[in-house]
Order: sequence, then structure tokens, then C-alpha cells
Amino acid sequence: MSQGVRTRYAPSPTGYQHIGGVRTALYCYLFTRHHGGTMVLRIEDTDRSRYVEGAEQYIIDTLEWLGYDCQEGVHVGGDKGPYRQSDRQAIYEQYAHQLVDSGNAYLAFDTAEELTAARSACEKKGETFTYNAATREQMRNSISLSKEEVDRLLNEGVPHVIRLRVPQDEEVVVNDIVRGRVVFDSNLLDEKVLFKSDGMPTYHLANVVDDHLMEISHVIRGEEWLPSTPSHVVMYKAFGWEDSMPKFAHLPLILKPTGKGKLSKRDADKLGFPIFPLAWESERGYRELGFFPEALTNFLAFLGWNPGTEQEIFSKEELSKVFNLDRVSKAGARFDFEKAKWFNQQYLMAMSDEDLAASVSSFAPEDINIPMDQLTVACGLVKERMVFPIDFWKQHHYLFQQPMDYDPKTVRKKWKNNRAEQFQELCARLEALEAFEVAEVEQVVKGYIKEKELGFGDILQPWRVMLTGIPGGPDLFRLSQFLGKQEVLKRMKVAMQSFDEMAAAI
Ligand code: GLU
Repeated sequence: MSQGVRTRYAPSPTGYQHIGGVRTALYCYLFTRHHGGTMVLRIEDTDRSRYVEGAEQYIIDTLEWLGYDCQEGVHVGGDKGPYRQSDRQAIYEQYAHQLVDSGNAYLAFDTAEELTAARSACEKKGETFTYNAATREQMRNSISLSKEEVDRLLNEGVPHVIRLRVPQDEEVVVNDIVRGRVVFDSNLLDEKVLFKSDGMPTYHLANVVDDHLMEISHVIRGEEWLPSTPSHVVMYKAFGWEDSMPKFAHLPLILKPTGKGKLSKRDADKLGFPIFPLAWESERGYRELGFFPEALTNFLAFLGWNPGTEQEIFSKEELSKVFNLDRVSKAGARFDFEKAKWFNQQYLMAMSDEDLAASVSSFAPEDINIPMDQLTVACGLVKERMVFPIDFWKQHHYLFQQPMDYDPKTVRKKWKNNRAEQFQELCARLEALEAFEVAEVEQVVKGYIKEKELGFGDILQPWRVMLTGIPGGPDLFRLSQFLGKQEVLKRMKVAMQSFDEMAAAI
């Protein structure tokens, strides 16, 4: 057994690597970094019937986008490969036979029909069929059948599987870093298929053999694998690998936003948030929506872990310093998309205006071409009102385009009495300004309001809608300076005419 921490992220390329899988990858990454260890990416593709073309590359692209570096794996190589299970078939076969030879596994010849019959017989009695010491005598396997019969079946080439033989009347203990000591009754364990009749191992055999051969020190995975773990522990013992058995950490479930039940793709579809990190088939991912990888990492880190302090914003480096498995919670973690957006917003606000402009420009509609220096200033103006870079184009296009329509509510409420004349007068005063900068514009507008003993909202609200079309937005004096005198006056004049028409139509 080598020294040091070695973890693995072991997804199956079945096409559905959702955000929960990414959280597992992140915790493996952070734990490994914390200990200066090695993280392995292993592709568990033994179930060929569920294999999805492109899914392996998708997993690699996700890890690359998020910056979860692996030191060994299918994409980077290493001296304990191959790292794709379909390339290791001969290894599993050899280990499966080793267990048969040592009496820890046996051959089973039951056909699919025979297994279905056994299951339905149990169901009729209201029980669930378990293939184990209590039932295997009634089935066709190398324990229940005579040696001659087994040899005959083998000679005839009758398809068979290899099953794990579970010792009776034992406590199987899983010492889980997150859940503590979990004890299972060996008599209740299923004697799982380890090697299938198609010549491929099952997940259980391949997983245990690989974790051993790849010298994995810590198995960090989702809670749904906890019920399989006692069978894995039985296998480690059967192989004689108990002393070097990895430590287990089963991560809590990710729950629906309501906190009830496991998060599913359907919940995400219903509530309109992505379930995939990157676009997958026709679905947009977190990346396409405009999530920054650091923000998504920060959000996911808190989905089942907390640092024990009030601090919420952590870079990936900071996280790897403070992260440990002891602070991973047992209780399910509620998925809160609003919180994910909040993290993104924090990262967006912390960006320099230049960096934000670069990001915003990558989402620009094709027909828009704005010089970077202008875009940089514009980003500075509306930064606090954005969650995603694309918001700039969805919500703040008035920075570069005259509004096409105006918030009718503001017009209805504010465009009355002699407001039109007041705005004529205000236009004239603004026109007279030589320097059209924040302080000057502010002085004119605020001075006018005071002089006429008006409320701020009487002027500022309609003025904002004239310039932007919408009721909320950035500081109007900064916006005026950005737009420039000619543009401000032009927008005011066009809007005043529309406001008159809108008011007349009410
Ligand atoms: N291949 C399993 C999965 O897709 C990995 C489980 C494990 O990490 O042991 O989740």
C-alpha cells in the first residue's frame, strides 16, 4: 500500500452526470488537494447496455471547465491504468476466478426465467427474494448442484454468472467517515453477481478490484452507494485485502428545493434551472447560463459541507485549505437555486469592470459591436444589478439603444399636471450645460426639483423611464454622463412625445 491520500472520481458514462456527480467530484478534489494527494478519474463503463456515446468526454470537459485537476486518469494517463473499466476485462475475470477458487464465490446457472419465478413466488408471500445462503439451495449453482452436474453444464457451455458467497451470522461493519459505524447483518445481504455471463464484471467487482489495484485510500461517493458497501467489505475480506481497505465517506443526498425527496431532473425542468454542468443534448448547462466555474464550485462546496464559520465566499484554493470530511453533514442538502445565483452575483461583483466586459462581450448578440472601453464603463454602471453576464444584454440594452417602449405604470402615475412643461424647462437647462458630467447634471436636476418644490420621484422616475424605458436601473447622473448630452436630450424629447400620447390614451 502506498503512502498518502489517493481518491478517485468514478462516474459511469451513462449520459446523466448531473450536478450531484459534480459535487462528488468536487469533494474528492478538495479532499485530495487538502492532503496533497492524487485524484484519479476512472470511467466505470462495464454496463454496456447503458453506455452513452460522448458521455466520457462530457465528464472530462466538466472537470476541465471547473478546474478539478486529476493527477491520474483516463484523460491524463498514469501508471495504474488502464483507467477505463472496459479496458480491464481480463483483470476482473482473473479476480472473479480467484474468489471461486478460494470458495468465496460460486457459479450460478439460473436462467432469467428461473430467477423471475423465484422472485414472484416470494412476492406472492409478500416477501422479497434475496439470493443468499437461505435460498441458494433451491437454485442452480455450484453449491447446490453436484460437481458432476456443474462439470456437465460447463462442458455444454451453459451460460452462468459468478456470485459472491457471503459468510453467515456475521456483523459487517462499515466505518464511514460521515455516518460513523454502520452495521449490517450478513444474513440479509444479497449474494451479488460479480461477473456476468457476457464476460463483463458487475460494478461491484470492478469497483473493489480497481480501488485495490489503484491503491485508493479514500472512497468518496454518494449516499446511494452505502447499501452496496457491506458487500464490498465482504469482498475485501474474501480477497485478503482487509488491511488496505479504503476508508469510506458517503456524501449526503441532494434534496429538492422544497427539502422533501431527492433532487431530480424533473424538479429542475419544472423550476427552470439546469441540472447539467455543461450543455447536454438540447439542455443548457450552468456554463451556458453564465455561471462562473468558481461560483458554481463555491455553491456546490456548501451543498453538504460547511466551514463552521460565517464565511461564505471561498476561492477553490481557500476551500481546499479548509475542507475536511469531518464537517460533511449526514443530513440531506437542500438544493437552492437562488443561492447558486447569489454566489454567481458575488463573483460577478468582485470582477474588475474590464474582466466583466470581456465576459459580457462573449454573450453579445451578433449584430452588436461595442468598443471594449465603452462596454467596460457600461459594465461598471450596472454590475450590481446583474447575476449573469448575459443579463447585460437582456436587461440593460438601453445603455446602447434608445428605449423602444416605456414603463406604462410610471407614465400613468407621473405624467400629469404640468409635468410636460417642467421637462421642457429641464431639457433647456441641461442643454445649456457645457460640461455634461455627473456633478453638473446632478446640480441642474436636483436644483430644479428644489426650486420648484417637487418630490424627487416626480422628476427622477419619469426621467429614468425616458432614458431607459424601465423603472429600475443605475444612478441616473452617472448614466447621463455615460450617454452624453446629445443622447440624453434626444431620448428625453422622443420620450416626452410618447408620454403625451400614452397619457392621452389612458
Ligand atoms: N460508477 C459509480 C457511479 O456512477 C461510482 C460509484 C462509486 O464511486 O463507487 O456513481
